Amino acid sequence: MSIVQRVYPVEGAQLDVLVMHCDHARFVYNLGLEQRSWWTPSRRHFRQKISVASQMRDLTEARREFDWLRAGSTVVQQGALRDLDRAFTNFFARRSGYPTFKKRFGARQGFVVRDLVVRRINRKWGEILVPKAGWVRFRVSRAWTDICAATSARIALMNGRWTVSLTTPPAPRREAPTTALVVGIDRGVANSVATSDGRMFHAPGFTVGEQARFVALQRRLARQQKGSANRHRTKAKLSRLRLRLADRRGDWIEQTTSEIASSYCAAAVEKLPIANMTRRAKPKPDPDNPGAFLPNGGRAKSGLNRAILASCWGKFAQRLDHKMSVVAVPAAYTSQECSNCGYTCPENRDSQAIFRCQGCGFEHHADTNAAINIRDRGFNLEHQPEDSLGDRVRQSRKRAAPTILVA
Ligand SMILES: [Zn+2]
Repeated sequence: MSIVQRVYPVEGAQLDVLVMHCDHARFVYNLGLEQRSWWTPSRRHFRQKISVASQMRDLTEARREFDWLRAGSTVVQQGALRDLDRAFTNFFARRSGYPTFKKRFGARQGFVVRDLVVRRINRKWGEILVPKAGWVRFRVSRAWTDICAATSARIALMNGRWTVSLTTPPAPRREAPTTALVVGIDRGVANSVATSDGRMFHAPGFTVGEQARFVALQRRLARQQKGSANRHRTKAKLSRLRLRLADRRGDWIEQTTSEIASSYCAAAVEKLPIANMTRRAKPKPDPDNPGAFLPNGGRAKSGLNRAILASCWGKFAQRLDHKMSVVAVPAAYTSQECSNCGYTCPENRDSQAIFRCQGCGFEHHADTNAAINIRDRGFNLEHQPEDSLGDRVRQSRKRAAPTILVA
């Protein structure tokens, strides 16, 4: 769990120190990454294996050598090496790609503060002790006891905003709700979230005016000279718009997941390999014309990618899991299966919105039908056939029982 609070450093010396820490963290991270990239299996015999420990020793040596590096904080610089190590751990565990260099003008800059010390000024304001910068003020918007429970913090600059994210031990689940009801949740593109009780939740997007402004700014950016001051300003405007949307979506996720968690004790969601679905379309080589490529539906896929990411599935499921118990079930055929009799065929799906069973004639909203299927799979509920079923239907129900995986 982490709590994010907005930080307001004092303009001048204090702000300069925070910027310096960001610069040092980035420099040490990039240098460490370069050192690690240099190591290859063929060089293993004459170069010691590179680890956090060896890099920490190298850092100590570098600090002895360079005054400007010594002027910075050891805690911050060592924190950057630990970040790098974690990035490599994630890479080797196939959780993420190979670590990349941090950019001077990257969207996000930051550094780690270990051995967190915070104090409260008044109801609305608190202070955090940052090495060499002293007490830095932040706005308190969460319970002070939660903030005090944090063990480490990361101070970050994103789109002109300074924030501190405090890592806290996971909060205990809320007191068990009084209901024993379970719910199934289908995450779609047309309706961002559909529940098995027939409710639809739509993730907010840009307003019409914002969308127009966003497109206009992107066009302007494309025409501007790289590295120019005007281009820089356009970029800042674009990122402010994106930030506004991200805030809006974040609020929506919190509100929607809280609402679902307050009325149900457990939820089933479909297990979706989002990383696969949002991957770039594979290039399709032309067999008759070497070096050339056939159309691969890349534009259509990138449109879908945007829509998937726009409906912010991953974050939604993550926050839901924090608030209630969630099971993830295989998503195969949940949109084609009849929630009434279990008959599965693609013709059942009349259109994007309407589900009409070819076996029993059951009619429902397509996303709600899928949500009911997900609920039934997650909690091993049987379909309730209304009347006698044909042979074909009975056969299709012999499918293997779905495996339930606790998320
Ligand atoms: Zn049916």
